[in-house]
Amino acid sequence: MEIRNYINGRFINSISKQNIKVMNPANQETVGFVDEALDEEIELAFSAASDAFRSRILQDMDPFIKSNLMRSIASKLRKYKKIGSQLLSLENGKTINQCAGEFEGAACIFDYYAGLTDKIENKLIPAEKNTFNYILLEPFGVSLQIIPWNYPISLFARSVATSMVVGNTVVIKPPELCPISSNLFGKVFEEVGVPKGILNIVHGYGEITGQKLVDNEKVNHIVFTGSQEVASEILRRTADRVIPCHLELGGKSAAIIYPDANIDKVVDSTVKGIFEPNAGQICVAMSRAIIHSKVKDEFLSKLKKRAEGLRIGPGKNNNSEVTPLITKNHLQRVSNYCMSGIQSGASLVSGGEQIDYNSGNYFKPTIFDNVDYNSTIAKEEIFGPVIAILDFETEEEAITLANSTDYGLASGIFTSNDEKAKWTAERIQAGIIWQNDWFVDAVNLPGGGYKKSGYGRDGGIDSLYSYGQTKRVSKRLH
Ligand code: NAD
Repeated sequence: MEIRNYINGRFINSISKQNIKVMNPANQETVGFVDEALDEEIELAFSAASDAFRSRILQDMDPFIKSNLMRSIASKLRKYKKIGSQLLSLENGKTINQCAGEFEGAACIFDYYAGLTDKIENKLIPAEKNTFNYILLEPFGVSLQIIPWNYPISLFARSVATSMVVGNTVVIKPPELCPISSNLFGKVFEEVGVPKGILNIVHGYGEITGQKLVDNEKVNHIVFTGSQEVASEILRRTADRVIPCHLELGGKSAAIIYPDANIDKVVDSTVKGIFEPNAGQICVAMSRAIIHSKVKDEFLSKLKKRAEGLRIGPGKNNNSEVTPLITKNHLQRVSNYCMSGIQSGASLVSGGEQIDYNSGNYFKPTIFDNVDYNSTIAKEEIFGPVIAILDFETEEEAITLANSTDYGLASGIFTSNDEKAKWTAERIQAGIIWQNDWFVDAVNLPGGGYKKSGYGRDGGIDSLYSYGQTKRVSKRLH
């Protein structure tokens, strides 16, 4: 399978004549090749996006027409869900059902934002007598969007759909490890008849193509979803140009488990929060459990039993519960973190090792107990099926532990006492708080990071203000 770059409304033949091999994490077989976009492709993509922006095609589009266009994108995404989910599973490793869920989620995002095109009601502000003051939400211009490999379809949809509502045109780089399924967006946009230049998809390695994209002088806005290290690099590279950046980064999300919680439900939430889906390779994974010492033994013994009973296998089997990690390098990285956990004195309760099966990148669901809050496995994002357990006695201690990392993406509170939950939610530094479950989400709910998990919000109406800028118009009447 050979994948082209999608620029100015069509798939183009490679100019660079370079390509990137994409491998299946479950067996190291080649899934396909994508054309690598270098200088000439990048220039074409930015010229197309910049011309489309200057033509005001999105800004001046009748909101009802834009809405219909976006709903047509949603239906086409549903049409391609089956083929798309098979492709995504091959290159990403998740189960086909999880991948189908991602395509369905992407379609829902376009449907939701299609419903907002005619609902941005700008404000009229009363001020000095005889003046007339109003606020407009306007686009930034050409929005560069860079996507990671773990949820490439839903993340693509959320930043492109929001941009379309606000009026930015887009140059987007899918992740080099998992780029093939994203090209279905090009096919969908072409078939629906989205005017050329509004969406341009370019492929390439982060350190090469990604850097060239960031350095391009036509960039007016950046939406980066990925690691904090790369985000900091992008901020450094764009500092002199003062480019607004919207950053959705990593996490080290903690669940606080009070003694009055239903422990069976907590175990269910933990299994789905860190072991499934996508083997813990999720920005909002429950990578830390901060549990009251009174209920720790019950929680640990139930969690160990569940973790050791999970079916580990390839994504092509929908009954696999723990699928492979993305690459051999990442598998080694997760192993190294587990070694550092043991060296730091944490107790390995379960897992901690790779599984040798059909050349796949499998890692056992892993539980560490008695973790020092200051150790590497308590502070850094491992991005695998590894949970660190820390225990507490007082509520204040639980909050201190929850806030003891540089990240602040998601957090969970498990208790049957709503007052205690409210007290806790107000003190946790994170952009998303879940109570009595992990992953309570919907397309109209905003999310994003505190601290080094980034800034800007995606989802819901709030996100429109991260993808646009307001302009005030003030008139003296006489
Ligand atoms: P990454 O930062 O290595 O790469 C992300 C993207 O940036 C890729 O497309 C990559 O090619 C590109 N890139 C790499 N170096 C670059 C550079 N110097 N200049 C420009 N682009 C560059 O992250 P990853 O390993 O792909 O993804 C995992 C990370 O993403 C984790 O930290 C995870 O928590 C985070 N993530 C966050 C969210 C969120 O919504 N907060 C969602 C998913 C993933």
